[in-house]
Amino acid sequence: MEAGPSAMTTTHTSARPDAPAAPAEPPVDVLVIGAGFSGLGMLYHLLERGFSARVVEAGDDVGGTWYWNRYPGCRCDSPTEVYQFFFSKELLQDWDWTHVYPAQPEILSYLRHVADRFDLRRHISLETRVRSASFNDATGTWRSTLDTGEVVESRFLVTAVGCLSDPQVPAYPGLENFRGEWHHTSRWPHSGVDFTGKRVGVIGTGSSGIQVIPEIAKEAAHLTVFQRTANFSFPARNRPLRPGEMEEFKASYDAIHAEIRAAKLGQRFAPMPGSALAVPAEVRQRFYEESWARGNAVLLFSGWEDLLTNEEANATAADFVRSKIAERIDDPETRDSLLPRNHPLGTKRPPLDTEYFETFNRDNVTLVDLRRTPIEEFCDGGVRVQTGVPDESQVHELDVLVFATGFDAITGPLLEIDITGSGGMSLREKWQDGPLTYLGLATAGFPNMFTITGPGSPAVISNMPTAIEQHNEWIRDCLVYMRDHGYQRIETSATTEEEWTVHVSELAQETLLVKVDSWYMGSNIPGKPRRFLSYLGGVGTYGDVITGVAAKDYDGFTFG
Ligand code: NAP
Repeated sequence: MEAGPSAMTTTHTSARPDAPAAPAEPPVDVLVIGAGFSGLGMLYHLLERGFSARVVEAGDDVGGTWYWNRYPGCRCDSPTEVYQFFFSKELLQDWDWTHVYPAQPEILSYLRHVADRFDLRRHISLETRVRSASFNDATGTWRSTLDTGEVVESRFLVTAVGCLSDPQVPAYPGLENFRGEWHHTSRWPHSGVDFTGKRVGVIGTGSSGIQVIPEIAKEAAHLTVFQRTANFSFPARNRPLRPGEMEEFKASYDAIHAEIRAAKLGQRFAPMPGSALAVPAEVRQRFYEESWARGNAVLLFSGWEDLLTNEEANATAADFVRSKIAERIDDPETRDSLLPRNHPLGTKRPPLDTEYFETFNRDNVTLVDLRRTPIEEFCDGGVRVQTGVPDESQVHELDVLVFATGFDAITGPLLEIDITGSGGMSLREKWQDGPLTYLGLATAGFPNMFTITGPGSPAVISNMPTAIEQHNEWIRDCLVYMRDHGYQRIETSATTEEEWTVHVSELAQETLLVKVDSWYMGSNIPGKPRRFLSYLGGVGTYGDVITGVAAKDYDGFTFG
């Protein structure tokens, strides 16, 4: 085991759930909520700089996204050499990945290894949720009540709750009547689900659905896929790493790190300058063919920079991808339903797949196009859909129902916790018309609180660990700066966060992404304000911005 960060004092007291007691001991420096990539990385950096820290995690192990999402086929969409921590050269040299896109168990093992190797576990309380957190103006501290009844007092509160961690099940009536079992992809039983000989239904064809569907089809007696929106998906072309490849990565990690920190997507992709429309059709076609052969969404991520801003340019790529998808599906009617036509390419998060479209050529797989035959209700036997004939319905009989129906993204997990700031201001009330943040890291009226990968940061529009490490390091440095200057309190202002939020929105308005319904826009959740939730300026530019803010003595923040 590598020498871990020194043990710091943590403090807690017990209280009855109905009467939160005031903590008797001095506050811990930082309470971190969540032990996924963000929380583990944050904890490492805090301990390493001598802060006391405590992490509270709902799962019974560390891992976050990779703890909760255990459905068959679950794997990463970022290439392995970029999807990891870069904070320790020893960790980078010691860990060997097996595939270009590692599967969930491998990434979970990696995160468990990080927790063990850096001796982080003794600062983490598992199977514990933070129910509420409130800032006390008199003491300048946060007081958080856990679901155990314990109250933790801390000088700082850091949310590391993930962007896609609040799963959603659609509100059609009758789920309580369904005789079979049902699961959400993000709350998969640890013991697995046996589909052998069963009639299975999957609702949802986003990244999770597109990964789980081919795997269930191999096992189930029959699989019915309920599709509301046909999706563009790119072949992952996943494969085991070749002999020597891991060694090449290890020799190049410094360069890879520098590259992804400067890149727009935090990945080893860079858009081409100019317009897709400015080159001859044959040149475009050649580039699209070569990109397709490489796998991943290379065509989009390394394609011309106007693919996501100009509908005509986008259509050249979308037409190409549609033609490739069409080649993969035998039945004309199924093909027609599976071809995405209602949104430009890349305006919903593009999934990577392994044999997804080919799965619909199997005899035991049926596609139900919900645009033609919408769901009416769940019933004891399965899912009842309209048939298109007035007053007529049809029940798809099922033994198991799988919801791959997504998440209340980015703001959902934050607003699940009852957070109250200075003067008793509620975060839920403050953000009822949409989130307001400065840099996606802080929100006015909530002193000493930082939101890792919060709304208004690049996060979900990038390779998540790259975005997370930017935030982990920035928060660490900010706390060190405060300690060095004897500051107790940091906060941003309403004017500053308004300016940043407008800037984020203006960047989004320049793109096609704001024109469609997606979880990026919050429009997958009924009643959620429709607003683009992430910063589109890119990881590299964003890194320059937050570094510049720090260099100017945390411009936009005030200290007390
Ligand atoms: P998602 O992208 O939001 O997809 C949800 C799917 O469920 C969509 O097809 C949606 O249709 C459908 N749906 C939602 N409500 C419905 C309803 N009431 N009736 C019928 N269909 C409904 O969720 P996800 O697939 O879990 O993925 C979310 C994000 O997690 C991804 O975009 C990605 O960022 C991340 N993720 C990553 C990986 C990876 O890296 N490999 C894997 C999985 C997830 P509509 O499109 O019509 O709304």
